[in-house]
Amino acid sequence: MTENEVKPKSFVDLIKEVHEKGICGECGGCVSFCSAAEIGAIDISTTGLPYYSNEENCLHCGICYLICPEIHELDEELNERFNFKPPIGNWSKIVTAQASDPQIQKFATDGGVVTAILIALLENNLIDAAIVAKKIGPFQRTPFFAKNKQDIIDAIGTNYNIEGPVSELGKYNTFVPTITELKKVVSSDKMKIAVVGVPCQIHSIRKMQELKIIPAHVVEYTLGLFCYENFKFDDAARARIEERFNFSFNDIEKMNIKENLIINLKNKDEPLIIEFSDLQDIMRHACRVCENFTNYFADISFGGIASQQGLTTTLIRTKAGEKIYKLALNKGYINEPSDSNTSIEKSKMIAQIISFSKRKANRAEEFQP
Ligand SMILES: Cc1cc2nc3c(=O)[nH]c(=O)nc-3n(C[C@H](O)[C@H](O)[C@H](O)COP(=O)(O)OP(=O)(O)OC[C@H]3O[C@@H](n4cnc5c(N)ncnc54)[C@H](O)[C@@H]3O)c2cc1C
Ligand code: SF4
Ligand code: SF4
Ligand code: SF4
Repeated sequence: MTENEVKPKSFVDLIKEVHEKGICGECGGCVSFCSAAEIGAIDISTTGLPYYSNEENCLHCGICYLICPEIHELDEELNERFNFKPPIGNWSKIVTAQASDPQIQKFATDGGVVTAILIALLENNLIDAAIVAKKIGPFQRTPFFAKNKQDIIDAIGTNYNIEGPVSELGKYNTFVPTITELKKVVSSDKMKIAVVGVPCQIHSIRKMQELKIIPAHVVEYTLGLFCYENFKFDDAARARIEERFNFSFNDIEKMNIKENLIINLKNKDEPLIIEFSDLQDIMRHACRVCENFTNYFADISFGGIASQQGLTTTLIRTKAGEKIYKLALNKGYINEPSDSNTSIEKSKMIAQIISFSKRKANRAEEFQP
């Protein structure tokens, strides 16, 4: 390469433009490519931030830079491919739905639609596995490669089978770098995978698919979760939250995020509702600059906002999304309660989602580094 030739930007530039500005969302996209390609220059550190584990291996190929959701390269191509329209992206159908299986309904975050669709995909041989996030504590999950129905059920919304006191966990993070699990499946090109993820993760996968690179080639379906923000904190912050809101983590029965944080406690009839604005001190820094609430580039996006308790707000976006939703509906894995799906109810749902999306976009504008 001559002196005047422009070198592709690489991980060095990600450090400068993303890490040093404190806006790395820790989605794991950069590491999942570099590991899957067996280059092995970078890895995820114990804090969640990627780092140069073997800098001498770096080929300066620039792929990690291109696929980072904090970098705007490729956004134009993606916006065109997904026919993006602000503030919530393209969609063909909005519905509030629930899993038909009462056991799934009971343990799901909202209506269990994500879990029911994943089971439908597995049982109808449309996927070989799904990447989900398994709960290991309140405010703690780990990426999980689910290969059968039981695995999917084990990773359901509010399954609180936690041994031991919460205080032994030490660090709390509602964010899970699920897509780093993708590197496990790269050797099997024939595998078909569904991935459940928050917007920054699905964004990174779509960028990899735009570049037609591993490991995203095995991702057949993307089930996106709505996401206003995620939280990261330690024992000291946990103690502060417990004191401020007068509850104990050990008493959490169920937790949900809609337009605020909803915590159901043992022996309490009414849930504890905490506004996002009261949790600013534990919000992950990167989430402040993120404007994507509804998971623009997923095949289907899911949230609790705008639906009654026990139902999932479901925004179907792509042809693939339409196909799998219809399959799950027609085969009875999910159902759509008719009284919650009148045209007036749907208009109210979309209005609420638009309003919340704008709120998030305004926050992102305010915090741009
Ligand atoms: C971190 C986070 C923030 C969210 N923020 C909002 C919000 O602000 N407003 C809103 O309306 N909805 C939000 N949601 C989505 C909502 O909480 C539900 O996940 C969604 O409505 C689907 O409900 P369900 O009952 O159909 O899902 P379920 O059937 O319970 O399935 C949930 C699936 O999500 C997976 N999962 C759980 N946690 C994570 C995670 N951290 N990363 C990746 N996968 C995970 C589980 O493994 C499971 O497969 C958020 C979800 C998450 C995980
Ligand atoms: S080899 Fe490529 S993907 Fe890996 S760190 Fe270097 S520039 Fe990034
Ligand atoms: S790709 Fe994800 S993990 Fe990597 S630097 Fe960008 S935001 Fe951080
Ligand atoms: S708000 Fe959600 S999607 Fe955005 S960076 Fe944070 S975790 Fe990722």
